[in-house]
Amino acid sequence: MDFNDTPEEAAFRAEARSWLEANAEPLAPGESPRPSSERTTPEEVKAAQAWQKKKADAGWACITWPEQYGGRGATPMQNVIWNEEQSKFRMPADIFSIGIGMCGPTILAHGTEEQRQRWIPKLLSGEEIWCQLFSEPSAGSDLAGLRSTAVRDGDEWIVNGQKIWTTGAHFCDWGILVVRTDPTVAKHAGLSYFVVDMHSPGVEVRPITQINGGQGFNEVFFTDVRIPDDQRISEVGNGWAVAITTLMNERQSIGSGMGIGAVEDLVGLARDIEVDGAPALEDRQVRERIADFVVKARGLKYTSLRTLTALSQGRPPGPEASMGKLVGAVLQQEAASFAMELGGASGALLDEEAAVAGAAWQQRYLSIPGLRIAGGTDEVLRNIIAERVLGLPPDARADKGIPFKDIPSGPPNA
Ligand SMILES: Cc1cc2nc3c(=O)[nH]c(=O)nc-3n(C[C@H](O)[C@H](O)[C@H](O)COP(=O)(O)OP(=O)(O)OC[C@H]3O[C@@H](n4cnc5c(N)ncnc54)[C@H](O)[C@@H]3O)c2cc1C
Repeated sequence: MDFNDTPEEAAFRAEARSWLEANAEPLAPGESPRPSSERTTPEEVKAAQAWQKKKADAGWACITWPEQYGGRGATPMQNVIWNEEQSKFRMPADIFSIGIGMCGPTILAHGTEEQRQRWIPKLLSGEEIWCQLFSEPSAGSDLAGLRSTAVRDGDEWIVNGQKIWTTGAHFCDWGILVVRTDPTVAKHAGLSYFVVDMHSPGVEVRPITQINGGQGFNEVFFTDVRIPDDQRISEVGNGWAVAITTLMNERQSIGSGMGIGAVEDLVGLARDIEVDGAPALEDRQVRERIADFVVKARGLKYTSLRTLTALSQGRPPGPEASMGKLVGAVLQQEAASFAMELGGASGALLDEEAAVAGAAWQQRYLSIPGLRIAGGTDEVLRNIIAERVLGLPPDARADKGIPFKDIPSGPPNA
């Protein structure tokens, strides 16, 4: 593979860069490109929407999406180039990753033309913000075991149940929702997929406070929430197939590039910070550790380019995309841990004044355990790689083929 831009790619890069230079602020050295979306204030939500609108008006939002919905029909490679260029500029909080990374592609793949026309343009322009209502207190890795229900009532469905870990639900307008519509068939067969208006009566959003002090996700309760049938995506009972499209896109959007930026930041930190009166990067032991990190980051980069090759040849992102998150999140955690070691006594402090780089590494260290769970835990990703990449025998599935209503649900109130 040739890693240099082709003349067409170089021209595209120049066009992207010149628009960004005219419309955004370049990053200062060592500055992180985006504020965390876990502490997003209403003003930051507005700023993120304004930036998204600006991009949409100029044809730089969701560039791989079809032109008829506001995209520019760009190739996956052009998207990588755009993201590379955009990462050099100061950006508002990333509140659209779920809508753009998962909800939009799912509606484009499975929605009717009317549904696409109804939701995609406002999703793309940032006017409406989306969340993903999949996980429940007893259904995360085993998503098909979910217990929230929808019962048909004429042209509407009545939804009851609870979702959890719903990122951004507190500022979202719409959510993609998977619920059980038939408990008499096997668990995967009884699910249906809907779009729910988060402002509907009966939707209650309660924030959850995380270990790092942020409130990025929520519990969401549904009490007799009415959803019109024209907000159902695909056929009744086909929810699992639609959810798989969302999850494949989730893995792709969460995993790619993870860890590589942390290692680059670590090299910068080792240049700035001193050990025994000299830059840490000149210390032999520090250099050795950093070299290990850089080798892993390069491995990740080239593995992600393999996924990209599949995409550029028109193949969907495959299960090997799971490797990016599995390896990248651990790498990021190890890099943050080493950065805190480099900080010496202040490494253990979460104080913006006392810790190096405004305690950004400490914040990162506390956020990464969530990354190792969201979008598939380490163990689940290992199972996917074992079964679908290496072809090893599948995990035991004791409830396979059993009607959902006959699967024991554990002790009362569990
Ligand atoms: C930061 C963050 C954001 C999130 N945002 C969203 C969101 O926006 N929308 C949403 O719907 N969900 C969201 N989630 C939820 C996420 O998808 C789930 O947490 C995840 O799927 C794991 O499910 P669980 O928490 O129920 O853990 P469980 O599935 O109960 O897992 C518990 C433990 O058992 C292990 N385990 C489970 N099954 C197996 C197996 N077959 N083999 C081996 N080990 C296994 C797991 O690896 C884990 O260690 C978010 C989570 C986080 C951390």
